[in-house]
Amino acid sequence: MRTKVDARLWQEIAHYRLRFSCEDCAQFVPELGTCSAGYPNAEHRRREQPSEIVFCKEFELT
Ligand code: SF4
Repeated sequence: MRTKVDARLWQEIAHYRLRFSCEDCAQFVPELGTCSAGYPNAEHRRREQPSEIVFCKEFELT
């Protein structure tokens, strides 16, 4: 799911310490930068304040 990100959402992400990228997912393989479930993950990786976030439906918080 794609979501536009504005300044308010960035504030809420910081305030509530929201996590949604591969780097915070139980399926992430940090040594390889890949997803152990086999999903293409380029759009779900952590980036510096993008204008849009692409949520993964299989995200599983570590
Ligand atoms: S399940 Fe989704 S969020 Fe988790 S590592 Fe794979 S692609 Fe990333």
